[in-house]
Amino acid sequence: MSSDLRTSTSIVLFGPPGAGKGTQAGNISVATGKPQVSTGDMLRAAVKEGTQLGIEAKGYMDAGLLVPDSIIIGLISERMLQDDASGGVLFDGFPRTIAQAEELSKITDVSLVIMIEVPDEDIVERIVGRRMDPQTGEIYHVKFKPAPSDVSSRLIQRKDDTEDTVRSRLDAYHLQTKPLSEWYIEASKETQLRVISVDGRGGIEQVSELIEKELGR
Ligand code: ADP
Ligand code: ADP
Repeated sequence: MSSDLRTSTSIVLFGPPGAGKGTQAGNISVATGKPQVSTGDMLRAAVKEGTQLGIEAKGYMDAGLLVPDSIIIGLISERMLQDDASGGVLFDGFPRTIAQAEELSKITDVSLVIMIEVPDEDIVERIVGRRMDPQTGEIYHVKFKPAPSDVSSRLIQRKDDTEDTVRSRLDAYHLQTKPLSEWYIEASKETQLRVISVDGRGGIEQVSELIEKELGR
């Protein structure tokens, strides 16, 4: 791992829905010592708890739309005040708009952006086959990462992991999130920021190895 990742800067894990961000985040978190901060997980927790924020966010999530920037920034600002965030964090699924990235730059320095590249034609199968273990948070896939038999009976499918909703999520990605990759690439030309792009089409282990190799440079 390069030494600059040991500083208090944060890392952004970027990619389309279903790219494998959540799947790869655990290893990256261990390798860099930065806690994973997933806005998707935080929003789902708020929906489950029935908080005001959860009630507001739910309609957007179920429709495959991005939750408004103001809600997301509020969540992140609060999260970054916690003790474990003082050494920087690993953002998973955030920022998703240029406005979010601009707000983020006022809260923490981002030293590394890891982009996982997966074409749209692979995304639908990944999303529709995704299953979650509600007890451990482990992510499985009916074909690409089958769960052990003692776990399989308790697996759940996310409400937004349907073929219809994934189309809206991909539209939101191309329209609102993808432009952010250019924004970060441009920023990397003028600052210390490092942007790495990883081919996410291989198997889970293969993608892990590619990321590990890049982190080691
Ligand atoms: P994201 O967090 O980017 O939305 P996930 O990590 O939840 O994506 O992965 C989406 C689905 O695809 C999950 O079911 C996961 O098991 C599966 N998956 C992740 N990475 C790969 C991969 N490299 N090859 C095949 N399936 C994958
Ligand atoms: P995935 O990466 O599989 O699309 P996430 O769990 O990251 O799923 O996000 C689920 C949903 O939560 C998104 O479709 C969106 O409605 C909302 N969401 C999560 N993160 C953000 C964000 N940074 N900005 C806006 N909406 C978000």
